[in-house]
Amino acid sequence: MILGTFKSQSDPDVEYNVSEGTFGEMVCNCPGFENHQTCWHVNKVWAKKELDKFRQKKAELNRGKLPDFKKLQEEQWAYIQARKDHYV
Ligand SMILES: [Zn+2]
Repeated sequence: MILGTFKSQSDPDVEYNVSEGTFGEMVCNCPGFENHQTCWHVNKVWAKKELDKFRQKKAELNRGKLPDFKKLQEEQWAYIQARKDHYV
């Protein structure tokens, strides 16, 4: 499953794909990822995904579906902290 596609900055004819790996992790086929197991493509897709999730929850909150916004923020922060080593 492709999660994001990026044009290479050095060669516009080359495209890199961020996709979902076997364990639900994100992988990219760019040289940076191959060397460092992370890259800005993955970071960008991941950040956007988290932001979308957060926005969605916030929208639910605005409609009165979630009772505790502070708890939501804490959960979000804990989630990011737990995973940041994999993506930063
Ligand atoms: Zn990449």
